Amino acid sequence: AHVVTEACFNCKYTDCVVVCPVECFYEGESMVYINPDECIDCEACVPECPVEAIFHEDNLPEKWQDYIQINAEKSQEL
Ligand code: SF4
Repeated sequence: AHVVTEACFNCKYTDCVVVCPVECFYEGESMVYINPDECIDCEACVPECPVEAIFHEDNLPEKWQDYIQINAEKSQEL
């Protein structure tokens, strides 16, 4: 699945949300999250993100590993 990371914080652009074919983005108070069970890894959102906050979980920088869990939990709460 794809993961939204810290760079999204307070971004408020939703270009990524709009292009997702399966509508698996969930908008939180300060950032958006991807539901890993719904993401089909199409990559459509990656080039749309103006702050390069979205990564495939396998390419996630070490410092943002926690965001795998954060996206999973937050997307299910919203
Ligand atoms: Fe949606 Fe595709 Fe991005 Fe997954 S990779 S969140 S399916 S646009």
